[in-house]
Amino acid sequence: MSRPSRFDVLFEPLRIGPVTTKNRFYQVPHCNGMGRAYPSPMAAMRGIKAEGGWGVVCTEQCDIHYSGQHQRELRLWDAQDIPTVARASELIHEHGALAGIELAHNGGHVANLESRAVPIAPSVEATRSLFPGTARAMDKDDIRAFRRWHREAALNARRAGFDIVYVYAGHSMTLPVNFLSPARNKRTDEYGGSLENRARLLRELIEDTKEAVGDTCAVAVRFCIDEMMGPRGLTADGEGIEVVGLLGELPDLWDINISSMAHDGATARFEQEGWQEKYVKRVKQATTKPVVGVGRFTSPDTMVSMLRSGTLDLIGAARPSIADPFLPRKIEEGRFDDIRECIGCNVCLAFDSLGAPLRCTQNPTMGEEWRRGWHPETIAPKDTDDTVLVVGGGPAGLEAARGLGQRGYEVILCEESRELGGRVTREARLPGLATYGRVRDWRLEQLRRMKNVRLLPGNRVTADLVLEAGCSLVAVATGATWRDDGVGRYHSEPVAGLDDTEVFTPDDIMDGRLPRGRVVVYDDDHYYMAGVLAEQLTAAGCEVTFATPEPLVSAFTQYTAEQKRVQRRVIELCSAVHTSTALARAERGTARLACTYTGRETVVPADAVVLVTGQVPRDGLYRELTDLGPDALARAGIRRVARVGDALGPGIIAGAVHSGHLFARTLDTALTDETPYRRENVAPGDDRLLLTKGGA
Ligand code: SF4
Repeated sequence: MSRPSRFDVLFEPLRIGPVTTKNRFYQVPHCNGMGRAYPSPMAAMRGIKAEGGWGVVCTEQCDIHYSGQHQRELRLWDAQDIPTVARASELIHEHGALAGIELAHNGGHVANLESRAVPIAPSVEATRSLFPGTARAMDKDDIRAFRRWHREAALNARRAGFDIVYVYAGHSMTLPVNFLSPARNKRTDEYGGSLENRARLLRELIEDTKEAVGDTCAVAVRFCIDEMMGPRGLTADGEGIEVVGLLGELPDLWDINISSMAHDGATARFEQEGWQEKYVKRVKQATTKPVVGVGRFTSPDTMVSMLRSGTLDLIGAARPSIADPFLPRKIEEGRFDDIRECIGCNVCLAFDSLGAPLRCTQNPTMGEEWRRGWHPETIAPKDTDDTVLVVGGGPAGLEAARGLGQRGYEVILCEESRELGGRVTREARLPGLATYGRVRDWRLEQLRRMKNVRLLPGNRVTADLVLEAGCSLVAVATGATWRDDGVGRYHSEPVAGLDDTEVFTPDDIMDGRLPRGRVVVYDDDHYYMAGVLAEQLTAAGCEVTFATPEPLVSAFTQYTAEQKRVQRRVIELCSAVHTSTALARAERGTARLACTYTGRETVVPADAVVLVTGQVPRDGLYRELTDLGPDALARAGIRRVARVGDALGPGIIAGAVHSGHLFARTLDTALTDETPYRRENVAPGDDRLLLTKGGA
């Protein structure tokens, strides 16, 4: 298969200072929850991206000094850290990509929980984390030291084999951008005041880095062109673009982003593909140097238009490279239908925020490359004579059938609904979640081509039918049901009075059964569901009171960097929002809400209550089958029945997809005696040194 010639522009090489990228696909630095704690998994993940055709693959941020340390990310404090990061550059180079490293000092953004160093910042300020600390203002010695640390880190980055070395002035969270920001820099010396003065440190860092490594490495600036705080900070049509005008020719590359992850990493619920164009479009007029920008690009046509319109020189991607590490290769080969498009859910970011290795809703192999040896494109051919019946066509069932089909197994997938996709089909109809349908669409496209997989929607499967099916493996992927009794995280017993009121669950609403009038949406789930239902119901004319036992609306969305936008939308749409409030009792025409701290009750009008609380697995078929016992199953030729996805443990879509993939790889989802993946243990340090010296 070959690509149409209009996409050739994406495969033109481009010179970036002293190095040349083979194409225009640029994996910008992105966090991944692995960092220095999981160096081999991190390096393997980067290597897979390079194998997938990205011309440039960067690391996440890499701390240069213990006074500005991120808890999890890479570090290059000194030569001791070189081997960890060098592994990534080696694996990136194996596939002909350039390796980039993002040198960072997080200034007053961090609390230095490990090193206990007092944070440093342009001016005295409260640290940005909730930690009750204060960053001190850097004096001239600090600034000189910071430049020295950065220069030494750049030299070590080159020793570690990197081709592109970043000066990181992005995301409103590093020292160079904090010096630039009028909101953060209150200095009165030559590093404060005018824009020229505030840009002095960034200029010096670029010059230092060029002088240190610029003969062999490209020097890139990742720059937050708009802090999204109006004239108090940098703006894309104000001082942001003026900075590019001032320093435009100094670096070899401009990597443009905006503000914090809440904006730069906006979810599809709030921003569409390419939304950052308006911020970056003037940058190329201010510099002759290559410009890379992001916007959750997954459409090859949009990528081409970004280059042809002169907006960007390189297509930057973090999330699209996570969802499909082989995206460039697929475009190169004209395999557009094979692109596994990011759905913009930010589950990847959530697990990094939680301090766990990255995972992805669309790509179940993400984070599993090293520890389980999972590859996003290949899978071992079948090694048993099994035939497989998959019951349920939601994300878990579809992924199980797809993976098994790729392995060469004969598979029958039955789904009781006439529509395939299960929860993703239903949820994709809710406000802002249309991209969730991509989870179904990509898998159906792959399955459509597999002659060894039969899809049978509109087929309800009973235990008798399973016994007659003649398959040796049965994967029960029948999903989950939302509870209608209010039991969840807060209530362990059913909420009183529900018999006297109209009760709805997310399943009811997704089935088209909507309440009317005054409705209480009670959220004890804390992810997106209650928020989007409130949106749907207010659009349908309901007067919604939103209540949640958590202090924040949709509290889990803090980790997906969208909580503030979610809460704002819920406040704007609902007639009342009660946080730290549980549903105490339902009564005819009213609901009794109780403060979770004091128990003080509030009575609100309620013609109906929508309960977004716990879920229960729909595992009745599994239980019926396993209750028959192994002998009866064996007589029907069945050697194993397994639960997959939400039928095993209801959770996020990423969990269901991963569970389906696990079944496809291992033909089971049961717990094993042996840990099913490799671990990397930290080698104990040599404490004899400390003992003989009596401590440092
Ligand atoms: Fe995209 Fe969601 Fe995967 Fe992140 S987890 S890369 S947002 S699909």
